Amino acid sequence: MTEIRIPFNRSSLAGREQEYISQAMAIGQIAGDQMFTRKCHELLENRIGIPKALVTTSCTHALEMSALLLNIEPGDEVIVPSFTFVSTVNAFVLRGAKPVFVDIRPDTLNLDETKLESSITSKTRAIVPVHYAGVACEMDTLMSIAAKHGVAVVEDNAHGLFGKYKGKMLGTFGCLATQSFHETKNITCGEGGALLINDSTFIERAEIIREKGTNRSRFFRGQVDKYSWVDVGSSYLMSDILAAFLYGQLECADQIQAKRRRVWEYYHANLAEWAGRQGVRTPFVPAECEQTFHMYYLLLPSLESRQALIRHLKQQGILSVFHYLPLHLSDMGRKYGGKAGDCPVTENLSDRLLRLPFYNELAENDQATVVEALRAFNCLDGRSGG
Ligand SMILES: *Cc1c(COP(=O)(O)O)cnc(C)c1O
Repeated sequence: MTEIRIPFNRSSLAGREQEYISQAMAIGQIAGDQMFTRKCHELLENRIGIPKALVTTSCTHALEMSALLLNIEPGDEVIVPSFTFVSTVNAFVLRGAKPVFVDIRPDTLNLDETKLESSITSKTRAIVPVHYAGVACEMDTLMSIAAKHGVAVVEDNAHGLFGKYKGKMLGTFGCLATQSFHETKNITCGEGGALLINDSTFIERAEIIREKGTNRSRFFRGQVDKYSWVDVGSSYLMSDILAAFLYGQLECADQIQAKRRRVWEYYHANLAEWAGRQGVRTPFVPAECEQTFHMYYLLLPSLESRQALIRHLKQQGILSVFHYLPLHLSDMGRKYGGKAGDCPVTENLSDRLLRLPFYNELAENDQATVVEALRAFNCLDGRSGG
């Protein structure tokens, strides 16, 4: 096997992460909700402009907290795109909800808002849109449909931290929103996430759910003289060691975004001519969206050409990867009645999508190698050369 010279993802230090971890150790308080966790909360709240942010062990756990906060129960329906990560759906299925899969738009690969209203029933409790690749969903339409039917919106904003729609920050539209700080995301601490709370009435209960169902947060603030078990909950707190790392990254968000912007724009400028000739589609970003440069994807003409291109790049030590498989066709999705043809755009595009190597420290000469390898590939016959 050829050695991988250019990986798909590689995390890197952005600033003072190591110094902050040492500082947390020196203070000697490394459980949840210590100094660096509070700094992360403050930074997220100020920058996004929301009443409360709570860092969590993962985006998956922030989604699980959302389902608990909304009191999702067996029999409830939750609308999700089929083209997303498992956790967007599974967090609600854990509470007994039935997932209702909606297809995506062919241009942005986001939940198709024109197919939303016909999926709403008297049992619909929540819509969970995903801002794919950090490009916003059509939020005006989506929010007005949700409001008309009295359905909650939880934004799965794992790709879209600090992205905007019509000048408004992603994560500020739904009553709740979730972030991921997994290794593969723009800003990371290895494994981590955050719950963003826009509707202040959720704050107190969110703190309780995150603290094993206890009112320990109020106790720490001196608001009660002992803490006890007051609600359901679990342990969704991030260690302050990870929060120290995360704070080091969050502080450098602008530099990180500038680096990712350069990577994205280099691909976009240097692949346009080849892609046009080959019938390969490159990402589309609507004018009202300020994207986050989370990834660079290509849509190949067919599954065969996509697989051939993955192999062609791998032979040259370049790792490219496909993305989500349609959830409605997964083993679990089929148990909820999913079948081929339900979400034709998702089924078609997921076969043809490929993501190129993309990380903060991806060097321009490595990117040039990737571009050169792509330009030597001919989709029409699925082979390299010519
Ligand atoms: C990464 C991701 C998640 C899960 O994030 P974790 O922090 O790994 O739990 C959820 N939804 C989307 C859209 C993601 O990309």
